[in-house]
Amino acid sequence: MTLFDSPAFEGHEGVHAFSDEKSGLKCIIAVHSTARGPAAGGCRMWPYASSEEALVDALRLSRAMSYKNAMADLELGGGKSVIIGDSRTQKTAALFEAFGRAVEDVGGKYWTAEDVGVSPTDLMHARKHTRYVAGLEGHEAASGDPSPVTAEGVFRGVQLCVRRAMKRDLDGVRVAIQGVGHVGEYLARKLHAAGAKLILTDVNAEALRRVAAETDAQIVAPSAIFDADADVFAPCALGGAVSLDTLPRLRAKIIAGAANNQLAGPDAGRELFNRGILYAPDYVINGGGIINVAGEIRALELGEAFDPAWVDQKLDRLALTLEEVLEQALRERRPTHEVANEIARSRIVGAAEKRVAA
Ligand code: NAD
Repeated sequence: MTLFDSPAFEGHEGVHAFSDEKSGLKCIIAVHSTARGPAAGGCRMWPYASSEEALVDALRLSRAMSYKNAMADLELGGGKSVIIGDSRTQKTAALFEAFGRAVEDVGGKYWTAEDVGVSPTDLMHARKHTRYVAGLEGHEAASGDPSPVTAEGVFRGVQLCVRRAMKRDLDGVRVAIQGVGHVGEYLARKLHAAGAKLILTDVNAEALRRVAAETDAQIVAPSAIFDADADVFAPCALGGAVSLDTLPRLRAKIIAGAANNQLAGPDAGRELFNRGILYAPDYVINGGGIINVAGEIRALELGEAFDPAWVDQKLDRLALTLEEVLEQALRERRPTHEVANEIARSRIVGAAEKRVAA
């Protein structure tokens, strides 16, 4: 692969590769856009098979963060970092201290936070060498676990989709949730409280039994969730749940959930549209988590305490943005994910043009 003509590179402002022989750090920090503000996105530690694989992941994820942050109406651009290594066996304090120095070298253009394989403790080590770290614990700006906020955003999104597609509130609406982990559990509780009838699955049988008992839900096997007799399908596990294989099995008229990268490919997005299923684009409806992190960055920058009211007002705005996407898609008879991408790009380009003009 050559860097500049890789499809994943498109639009990136900068890509930084760092290595530190002493700690064994090998990391890539990708900055897709700073047009709306400093690039923000978590750090992922993963045993990539090659540096090329790590690079493509960093590029893909950082662009996705630009889109997500723009749709959440945050004054943040998009970036992401990846550390090559096995988080179960190769984590050391020195490794994350070296990572902190790498983040500092990018000079404030990139704010890091947790992602797969990286914990608040790891970030504490990074923080010794840079202030551009969110997702910490034990200080007054700390934002804590983003999952309840993500779940609240998804809950509001499900409510909106049901109102638009079914002209009713959530009472009695049947929702199939795939995955009752951090976000799925909170979502299940909120939907249950609103009167929805739940069908749940998870590969973790114990968590599944517990959440189902608390929410009076029906349990189905992981492979059976696609056949559930539901009005709404809420993917809250891994990516790729909506594919050309699973779509013909879905009975739901609405897909709205927390998982990232729900569409297995662009064909799945088109097929959803052809089947008349209302899809809440994943990176719009699940923006609550990054809003929570942005609340911490804001508090750190202002030297103030974390402000939940600021987060709540951004969640209200997120619901309006989702409505704008659904409305435009309906008016123009186009798939919702295509409309969302277009709005995200125009928000980023608009900010870049303003910056040049200033
Ligand atoms: P999690 O790991 O806590 O929960 C995922 C759950 O899915 C687990 O309980 C797991 O056992 C289950 N699962 C895995 N494979 C499954 C399968 N094949 N069938 C059924 N269940 C399966 O993760 P989370 O933090 O709840 O995040 C869920 C999704 O939402 C992820 O895609 C994540 O990227 C996305 N997301 C999370 C946040 C957040 O604030 N945590 C924010 C934005 C997006």
